[in-house]
Amino acid sequence: MVAERGNASTPAAPNKAESFQVRKARLRASFVSQLPGRLADARRAVAELHPGEIDHARLDALYVLFHTLKGSGATFGFRQISDTAESAEQAMRRAMDSGGWVEAALPTELARLMDDLDALALAADVQVDPDVAPGFELPGPEPQLEPTSGQAPDARPGQPADRSQRMVYLCDDDPDLAAQLAGQLGCFGYRVRAFTNLADLREAVGIERPSAMILDVVFPEDENAGPKMLAEIRTGEEEAIPCIFISCRDDFGGRLQAVRAGGSAYCTKPIKTVELLEFLDRLTNPHPPEPINVLVVDDDRELAQFHAAVLEEAGMVAKAVSDPEQVLGLLDTFDADLVLMDMYMPDCSGPELSRILRQIPGHVSLPIIYVSSETDVERQHKALAVGADGFLTKPIEPARLIAEVGLRAERMRILHSLMVRDGLTGLFNHNAIMQFLEVAAANARRAGTSLCFAMLDVDHFKSVNDTYGHPTGDQVLMALSRTLRLRLREDDLVGRYGGEEFAVVLSGVSVERAKRILDALRTSFSNVTFFSDGQEFRCTFSVGVADFPTFDSPDAMTEAADRALYRAKKGGRNRVEIATVQDRLPEPDSTGTSDGS
Ligand code: GH3
Ligand code: MG
Ligand code: MG
Repeated sequence: MVAERGNASTPAAPNKAESFQVRKARLRASFVSQLPGRLADARRAVAELHPGEIDHARLDALYVLFHTLKGSGATFGFRQISDTAESAEQAMRRAMDSGGWVEAALPTELARLMDDLDALALAADVQVDPDVAPGFELPGPEPQLEPTSGQAPDARPGQPADRSQRMVYLCDDDPDLAAQLAGQLGCFGYRVRAFTNLADLREAVGIERPSAMILDVVFPEDENAGPKMLAEIRTGEEEAIPCIFISCRDDFGGRLQAVRAGGSAYCTKPIKTVELLEFLDRLTNPHPPEPINVLVVDDDRELAQFHAAVLEEAGMVAKAVSDPEQVLGLLDTFDADLVLMDMYMPDCSGPELSRILRQIPGHVSLPIIYVSSETDVERQHKALAVGADGFLTKPIEPARLIAEVGLRAERMRILHSLMVRDGLTGLFNHNAIMQFLEVAAANARRAGTSLCFAMLDVDHFKSVNDTYGHPTGDQVLMALSRTLRLRLREDDLVGRYGGEEFAVVLSGVSVERAKRILDALRTSFSNVTFFSDGQEFRCTFSVGVADFPTFDSPDAMTEAADRALYRAKKGGRNRVEIATVQDRLPEPDSTGTSDGS
């Protein structure tokens, strides 16, 4: 999923008010109450097995049934039920592995196991205290993992970060770099004080503590002067100031010194502003990160709900679904960070569902973890080979489930954000925005709604670079990105198409409305005053916008927007042009005379 996270589409946690203990007891009771029905189903299927026949279908169905019972039995603390179901599962596996033959002894063996299961089910019915179940407890009151810790009461997930109150001290002996970085971080709302020597930094920290520091490693006096200074500042400090090191050193020694001094992050030069910003945001953000969203797919409804309850108890938002067919629809509205998936499900197996997900561009990198009682390593590998990311065996300790899901989802979020973002502006990169356009176009087609694609290009940008220098040009690009991000709706997607060109995807908006929005943006940006070496200047941009369904594919929309942009440039720049049917490419078989310009 590559959607910009927002609280708009995050569904409320179901039954959040209900305590975990109550839910646990309820799910366990539900498991117990459904046992007789499940066992009756199994008995019926066993009765229909005929010795001497080949019966793949019935053997498969029974295998899934026993396998599921093994997993959920163990999860809900019924060890003997789980063990007995496992014996039955193995009997089915043997029969399946020997060509699907129902051997003479099989029905008898199964009948015996079914008797045992019936007896155990009766005993389970009177066992009411859920706390007797082993492997069932949540980790203690302390959250085990930072990323999954519950939200503070004042957390506002999805709100844009307010960085204006955050003072950052930056120290680098290269005055140009220090000034340039300070300017860039300033564009993103940080208050930055730049120093070129460590003594001045030391003094400033003594007077006013910053929210974070950015320190060079190498200074003229010592190749480890930065880390040494941090260590000095840290001694005697009650609460450490988070510190990011920036350095041209990429050797192990430099990194080791930085880690030992207590550095939280290390960026090598040339510095990617967005990478630095991501670290700064994370280190200075007083709000915990947005909760992790997990989709739990398991045909065993109680087990799905139980795993969801465990994850919710740890502060995540979890949705349980027992019908694999509902998964695609759910993923349209639920911005899942990870899917926890059962491996054996009757209508569509976990590996099949994984393959379906991997064939959809928007879900290619969605982490999938199987939760299954499958312990056969070879079968596990096969299941992973279709593009899943991990395997957890049932019954899984709640603490482990939380840890595995939290770690993977958090790592994926970071990787993902680096993968899809442009390094200078933090906007989506070319690939990501084009992928969004594909997804948005498919949604618009399905829902019969409109969609606009706009291409923006800064006017005479080359002369900005030529007159004021490339770093100033960069600041213009960052300021424009920021204007676009702040002024557009959360649902609108903004990307850097390349160089000084930007792309915007506006869903559910008519082309006239898109023009009004873009014109307003254009006007407000043209009023921004930039300063460089005491000189003042302003910038404008031109826009071409194309809509769906006038242009009925992502390619047609981009082509048309590009042509409209060309007209905007030709018509005098600083304007928005709407793509018309004349901007349509000639049909391949037509004899149209358009030469594409
Ligand atoms: P037009 O109004 O016709 O668009 O003129 P222009 O000068 O903006 O267009 P042109 O395509 O001739 O020049 C674009 C310039 O943008 C050239 C390139 O060096 C500059 N550029 C591209 N990417 C970056 C960047 O990341 N930073 C800076 N500072 N400049 C960039
Ligand atoms: Mg340009
Ligand atoms: Mg250009």
